[in-house]
Amino acid sequence: MKKLYKIFFVAISILFFNNNIIAQDENDNVDVIVIDAGHGGKDPGAIGKKSKEKDIALAIALKLGKYINENLPDVRVVYTRKTDKFIELHRRSEIADENNADLFISIHVNASRAKNVTGTSTFVMGLNRSDKQLEVVKRENSVILIEDNYKKRYDGFDPNSPETEIIFSLYQNSYLEQSIKIAGLVQDQFEERAKRVNRDVRQAGLVVLWNCSMPSILIETGFITNPEEEKFLMSENGQAIIASSIYRAVKEYKNIVEGKEPVNEKNNIVFKIQIAYSTKDIETIPENFEGIKQVEKVKDGRYYRYFTGSAKTYEEIASLQEKIRKKIPEAYVIALNNGKFITVKDALQLLNN
Ligand SMILES: [Zn+2]
Repeated sequence: MKKLYKIFFVAISILFFNNNIIAQDENDNVDVIVIDAGHGGKDPGAIGKKSKEKDIALAIALKLGKYINENLPDVRVVYTRKTDKFIELHRRSEIADENNADLFISIHVNASRAKNVTGTSTFVMGLNRSDKQLEVVKRENSVILIEDNYKKRYDGFDPNSPETEIIFSLYQNSYLEQSIKIAGLVQDQFEERAKRVNRDVRQAGLVVLWNCSMPSILIETGFITNPEEEKFLMSENGQAIIASSIYRAVKEYKNIVEGKEPVNEKNNIVFKIQIAYSTKDIETIPENFEGIKQVEKVKDGRYYRYFTGSAKTYEEIASLQEKIRKKIPEAYVIALNNGKFITVKDALQLLNN
């Protein structure tokens, strides 16, 4: 317990240190977007009957970049790879850091032993519980095993250790809200415009997102193991549909982030703990939320967000979060100012001013 406590404070100080760095960057615009085509070179990713994940991911990544360049001229697109090249996972987030990216989008293709499974899901960094998610985590993280020096490089990262997860999920807290926002927009576009099966926004301990110091998502654009979906993802038209869906979500996200209203003089900041995020309208009874009694439900677009707790300081909510996470590991802190969602990062800045 003592060890956990220490780690908790290390994580908090990382969070604050990080906020100080961000505070110097006054521009909140989405100016630089890193597009990361998953896998490459000696790492093919998932393999279908006729195609490889690395090729589909690259084709979609290049199309997405093209749409952004053509339609959002104020955005600079940076690719982690533009050819069939092997890139280590840690290098991908380094590229994002070196370019001061405002958004990191990693593009992948899913696989399943069950051939009938189809659909898209978008991942943000977080804790994972269900077996299905673990499958994705194992596959997407396994590439580090073929990297040189992986033991040294990822020392301290063990997706199976709860302590490691506490560190990175707190570190990620300041970007999680924005990551979930863009992830939700991507899934909405996939469902409404691209008519794909919606497998929702999910949280998982993915190495490629771990070190990203900006909002970051990993998109599984479909299942290579389903013959029809593989055909769709291999086709020029299918790739264009997927890429343009992501592009529209990016555009919407950029508008939301940049169209942010000026900060109200009288701040009224409240922190809460988000315990679930779903398209499902769930009754807020303790039985549905691991016995948690006071659950608040808020509709946010097509999604329902479920909260518990309320505090005026981050310290207070962080200690409550620690307790809640014993029941719901993916619970995380969100912030509201005068009833409007703001990032935890912005809330801490407002409180410090
Ligand atoms: Zn992948």
